[in-house]
Amino acid sequence: MTLDATQPCPCGSSSQYGACCQPLHQGAAAPDAERLMRSRYCAYTLGLIDYLVATTVPAQQSQLAVEAMRQWSEQSRWLGLTVESAQQLPGASTAQVTFVARWQDPDGSAQSHRECSDFRLIAGRWYFLDPNHAIKAGRNEPCPCGSGRKFKQCCAR
Ligand SMILES: [Zn+2]
Ligand SMILES: [Zn+2]
Repeated sequence: MTLDATQPCPCGSSSQYGACCQPLHQGAAAPDAERLMRSRYCAYTLGLIDYLVATTVPAQQSQLAVEAMRQWSEQSRWLGLTVESAQQLPGASTAQVTFVARWQDPDGSAQSHRECSDFRLIAGRWYFLDPNHAIKAGRNEPCPCGSGRKFKQCCAR
């Protein structure tokens, strides 16, 4: 699916796509974790699976079930996104965004999913930390998620 830049952005921001998620989908860095989260929901509605992979923490990208993501993206009818809250301290390299995503399954049943997602700032770009995939490292090594903390004080918990 393609979307004209002047159409309302599917992420629910009430901005036009070209002034909202499109620049991110074309490679611009998300200014904060909430914008990255919105652009990822938007990518699901548009079938931009490469973008979903590229915005997951690099240490997890090879573990992603790309074909399942593609099927879910294409077979769902996307109904909308509500961002409930975003916790991001100025200058911090970690953030959480709580949201509700809504969609319709191929059988017509309406679904919704509420989640508090974790995000990490790595080398100036925000990434989604996927809770379905483990990050492995030695307990005293730097955490591969890029937080700058030791693994035992970060994703090992
Ligand atoms: Zn958007
Ligand atoms: Zn970590």
